[in-house]
Amino acid sequence: RTPPLGSGLSAVLDSVLEQARPTDGGEVAGYIPELADEDPEQLGIALASVRGAVHEAGDSDAEFTIQSVSKPFVFALALEQSGLAAITRHVGLEPSGEPFNAISLEERTGRPLNPMINAGAIVCSSLIRGDDAAAKSGVIEAGLSAFAGRTLDVDEAVLASEAATGDRNRALAHLARAAGTLASTAAVATDAYFRQCSVNVTARDLAVMAATLAAGGVNPVTRERVVSEDVARWTTAVMTSCGMYDASGEWLVRVGLPAKSGVGGGIAALQPEQFGIGTFSPRLDARGNSVRGIAMLEELSERHGLHMLEHR
Ligand code: GLU
Repeated sequence: RTPPLGSGLSAVLDSVLEQARPTDGGEVAGYIPELADEDPEQLGIALASVRGAVHEAGDSDAEFTIQSVSKPFVFALALEQSGLAAITRHVGLEPSGEPFNAISLEERTGRPLNPMINAGAIVCSSLIRGDDAAAKSGVIEAGLSAFAGRTLDVDEAVLASEAATGDRNRALAHLARAAGTLASTAAVATDAYFRQCSVNVTARDLAVMAATLAAGGVNPVTRERVVSEDVARWTTAVMTSCGMYDASGEWLVRVGLPAKSGVGGGIAALQPEQFGIGTFSPRLDARGNSVRGIAMLEELSERHGLHMLEHR
C-alpha cells in the first residue's frame, strides 16, 4: 500500500482515472429526458486540499447538474440559518436504507427520516428563508456558489425537464405538508428543490465544496467562511450515514469517506481536515451512484489508506 496522499497528487489522480476508464457498466440516468442526453464517456476527478491547492484530471471542468449532491449543502445552509434543534423538528437524522425517492415519513413525528432522501431534502429547501420560491432559490444558489467559490448557474433545460416529470417529488412535498413538517406550500418547496437540483457544477466545484466542509466550513480557495464548524461537522456526519442512497452502509465499509452522490453523475467526498474530492461520470448503478466515480474513490481509498477508520 502506498503512503497517504501527499506529493505527486496530479499523477495519482491521472492514474486512478485511467484505471477506471475502461469500466463501462451502468446507465446514464433516464428518469428525466434531459439527463439521458449526457455523453456517457465523460470522466473527471478533482481534489482540493484544506490549504486551497486544487489538483485535477480528465473532464474535471465539464459541467453537469448537481442533483442530489446539493442535498448536504442545502441542509448545511438550513442549519446555519436556524440551528440543529429547529431543523431536526422538521427532518430526522436516521439512515433510511430506502431508495432516494421513497415515500417515507417517520410515523410518530411526520418527519422525513433524513435530509439526504428526497422527502427530507424538499423539507430542507422549504426551510430556507424567503417568502417565495424565487427568494429561497436566491439564497440557495448564493450558498452553493459560496461553497464552490464561484457563481454557479442553473441548467434551464434540466430544470424544465425536472419540473415536467416531478410528480413523485410533488407528492412527497404534499405528504410532508400534511404531516406538518414542510415550512412552505408544497409548490414553493418543490420549485426551490427542482432549481437547486438543476445547478450546474464541475468535478472541481464539488471538490472545493467538499473541501469547505473538510476545512470546518471555510472555503479553502476563497477563504470565505460559509458555515460554522458545528454545521460542517453535522453535515459531514449525515453524509457518512446517509450519503450514498441505499448503498451507504456498504460504501462506509468499502471506501470509508463521507460522500454524497447525485444522478447527474457527480460524487462529492471528503476527509475532514484533509481534502475534498469531486468525481464526475454519468453512468449510474442500480442505486443511482456513478459507477466510475465509485471505482475511482474505492481505488484511491484502498491505495492510500484513506478510510476514516484506518488504523494510523
Ligand atoms: N432531482 C432529482 C430528483 O429529485 C435528484 C435525484 C438524485 O440525484 O438523487 O428526482
